[in-house]
Amino acid sequence: MRRNIVAGNWKMNLKFSQADELISEIAQELSEYDLTDVDIILCPPFPYLELASDASESSDFFVGSQNVSSFEKGAYTGEISAKMLASLQVDYCIVGHSERRKYFLETNKDVAEKVNRLLEENITPIVCVGESLEEREQGEYFSVIKTQITEGLFHLHSDKIEQIIIAYEPVWAIGTGKTATAEQAQEIHSFIRGLIAEHYNKKIADNISILYGGSCNAENATELFAMPDVDGGLIGGASLKAQDFVTIANSF
Ligand code: PEP
Repeated sequence: MRRNIVAGNWKMNLKFSQADELISEIAQELSEYDLTDVDIILCPPFPYLELASDASESSDFFVGSQNVSSFEKGAYTGEISAKMLASLQVDYCIVGHSERRKYFLETNKDVAEKVNRLLEENITPIVCVGESLEEREQGEYFSVIKTQITEGLFHLHSDKIEQIIIAYEPVWAIGTGKTATAEQAQEIHSFIRGLIAEHYNKKIADNISILYGGSCNAENATELFAMPDVDGGLIGGASLKAQDFVTIANSF
């Protein structure tokens, strides 16, 4: 179902005590607002998922993981399975983040497998797509995004695609302070929705949440979220500051 969503990707940051503190601060900030029209998701590193899960029981946020194994179980040292995440009451998981594609050579095929594992456990994948600066400058961004969406998601049956959240994250905007303009974001979000309508149907496309990510912050979120096809944000740096993160969640 299409919802307004703000998800915080903490990446590989914070010690246990700092994570504990940030969760408490966010819970406290959230308690001061009525955010029933927004789903708020915290995606801390794996070791802090249980902490966040426990806190979520008495607060207004959900918990997401930043990654999952494409394998179901077994001899895959260092990997974390979707079943393990489900056993920690993790409801969402980021898949195909550009940092995973770049540093861990994650492919669209890996993304498709991870999406499958997550759906088997009723965990909602937040699937990231986006072009590099070079791809944008060479005018290849539509085809790059089309390939990422097609190869990562279009194996899914229509009743499964509706369970997916898509995040458009132009690589040149991630952690750079260089946000896409609201118009640039809208152009791609509308393109992605069009791809889904073409492959499935318009009703399904209209039902999917598409988030923007890339230097989204407390100052620019309102303008981005006002775009008709932007249903919220996947927030990196600004999600590590409780007040900024909650301000972003209040930007619809
Ligand atoms: C991200 O990594 O998902 C992200 C959007 O990062 P930032 O907000 O820091 O650009």
